[in-house]
Amino acid sequence: MNRRPIILGGKDLEPEEVPPPVTERTLPHKWLPKEALPLYSDKGEADMYLFKTAEEKVRNHALSKVDEGLEVMGFLLGEVFTDHGHEYTVVRDVATTDLEATSVSVKFDPEGFEALFATLECARFRYVLVGWYHSHPGHGCFLSSTDIATQKGMFDRPYHTALVVDPVRKHIDAFCLSKGEVKRRKFLVYWDEFQNPYHGESVRVRKLL
Ligand SMILES: [Zn+2]
Repeated sequence: MNRRPIILGGKDLEPEEVPPPVTERTLPHKWLPKEALPLYSDKGEADMYLFKTAEEKVRNHALSKVDEGLEVMGFLLGEVFTDHGHEYTVVRDVATTDLEATSVSVKFDPEGFEALFATLECARFRYVLVGWYHSHPGHGCFLSSTDIATQKGMFDRPYHTALVVDPVRKHIDAFCLSKGEVKRRKFLVYWDEFQNPYHGESVRVRKLL
């Protein structure tokens, strides 16, 4: 991936001061692996808030390729805000395109990648590219050396998040770069008043795309 999609819409960011989603409508993800839990033991602010429907799209995209053992990937689209000096992102939606995937790697089909940008540009998409997601079916959640190279090459801003989902182990975790080092990122799923992300006990698999 050589093309560097800095910010859709092209202008520099001046994050607005906006309070984050209220605590009553946020929850840590149910698929967080054990090693991530210490980060969630306090009530401290999260760095990313993932809208319920965007979360469903990511999870269902990953689950849709489990039988074939394929990785999936897409962009996290949203906004960057500050709250009393704390910068955070809100992921409102995700976008993806044709993929060239195997069980251990995934990349956007070069033509599909261009097409996706063209589509987003045409739509005058107002969201910022705040990160990317991809899956590791059965491999657990971490950033591989290729993932780190992708992060450094395309998502090196402090607000850029790499969301990794393992639809086989049912794990999800988020990472970012801090001074060039990979760091786990605290994120919460949030929803609007009229939604409840964990209605009932089981996760409903829904065909996407
Ligand atoms: Zn990976």
